[in-house]
Amino acid sequence: MGSIAASVKPHAVCIPFPAQGHINPMLKLAKLLHYRGFHITFVNTEHNHKRLLNSRGPNSLDGLPDFCCETISDGLPPSDADAAQDIPSLCESITKNCLLPFCNLLSKLNDSSSSNVPPVTCIISDGGMTFTLKAAEQFGIPDVLFWTTSACGFLGYTKYSQLVERGLVPLKDASCLTNEYLDTIIDWIPGMKNIRLRDLPSFIRVTNSNDIVLNYLLNELKGVFKASTIVLNTFDAFERHVLDALSAILPRVYTVGPLQLMTDQIPNDGLKSICSNLLKEEPGCIGWLNSKQPNSVVYVNFGSTTVMTKQQLCEFAWGLANSKKTFLWIIRPDIVTGDSNILPPEFVQETKERGMLASWCPQEQVLKHPAIGGFLTHSGWNSTIESACSGVPMICWPFFAEQHTNCRYSCTEWGIGMEIDSDVKRNEVEKLVKELMDGEKGKEMKKKAMDWKKKAEEATECGGSSQLNLDKLLNEVLLLK
Ligand code: UDP
Repeated sequence: MGSIAASVKPHAVCIPFPAQGHINPMLKLAKLLHYRGFHITFVNTEHNHKRLLNSRGPNSLDGLPDFCCETISDGLPPSDADAAQDIPSLCESITKNCLLPFCNLLSKLNDSSSSNVPPVTCIISDGGMTFTLKAAEQFGIPDVLFWTTSACGFLGYTKYSQLVERGLVPLKDASCLTNEYLDTIIDWIPGMKNIRLRDLPSFIRVTNSNDIVLNYLLNELKGVFKASTIVLNTFDAFERHVLDALSAILPRVYTVGPLQLMTDQIPNDGLKSICSNLLKEEPGCIGWLNSKQPNSVVYVNFGSTTVMTKQQLCEFAWGLANSKKTFLWIIRPDIVTGDSNILPPEFVQETKERGMLASWCPQEQVLKHPAIGGFLTHSGWNSTIESACSGVPMICWPFFAEQHTNCRYSCTEWGIGMEIDSDVKRNEVEKLVKELMDGEKGKEMKKKAMDWKKKAEEATECGGSSQLNLDKLLNEVLLLK
């Protein structure tokens, strides 16, 4: 892989949306660019910078001289460093408050009297941070938008105005949330075969057109059509039809994923120690998995933002217990809304020999571990693509955003998922876990997942579609003078 032979390095400023599922893939993209010869400035919010330090200790952000971290304020009042922020408040505040500190940062980086870094040559910004387009225009540099969603979820978002025109959304009121209405088939979206209304991202299926997150998204989507370049963490073979449909309506789309497989190829050059966990990883998960038989463990993790009721937590617990399978279950301290996440003591007692509970784990390593036979997931995009490229089939319990679309594609397009009802019941959890681990459908899904793993590896090896797209992104956009 070639690096850049120039005396002054190109300098990319990478700015993720301030949430775990956005910071992780942005950090990977930044590492890839660094490997290709870029000076990197990685921009976190002050709040998340503190969380990163808390989770890893003071050395976690010490990178290399040409991989630097900077912070800007998200404009919200300081809050508990351990807690995730309220998404609607964050969205409102970003729109109002982030442009000025971001421009000030760019000026500081470009000021050779106060900084000894090369001038900024491009901005890689999360698709949900399009205030950066104004900054890019002001500084006369390209701004590449990195949408960290699946292509199918992204395509769903772009259909909002057509859904409104057809009277399907906003939903008139909560009474529309019936199965019958949500099962309405939508057969007019190119690239999406017979998708149901319920499979489209939840943020665009709201009852109130003044919804803060909806309006934030609609504003960010305008940025998509203004930007010259969109990057996605997916690969061509995985989402071919959707990508064809997207390229008909959007600027240049570069698929450079799965980023996990792309960055796995970078030799250990010191960047490995820069990590993006906002929560402290619990030690011991991998050691525990090492003592287990291949394909014997169900891995359960609902990501960084999903919340559930105490009752739902109990249904998952008893479903897992009754399946009699060995499991690794990651339960964030704040997973239960407004209540403690304490599990029934009888459940803990009954499963203590075959269950491990932890609050956060190195998920990519877990999914790659031979002991893992299946994944009970909330279908976040990172989790979905990490699972697919590790050859692990899933049970999907989508919570919000485009997780519903990811679930639909996992189940019907890729053949690597089974959906669980949102009103989760222990009997269904037990049945699906048994099917996943021992049933015919489980075997079929495992085979398909292994096929996707192979295709993901092909896309990311030398000459594969994602490597070629990364080359193109560099040559066609990022290195243009
Ligand atoms: N993750 C992790 N350890 C955990 C839980 C999650 O490292 O215990 C990582 C996971 O590998 C993924 C990200 O956090 O990269 C979660 O992103 P995803 O899109 O799946 O869900 P979100 O958290 O955005 O809902």
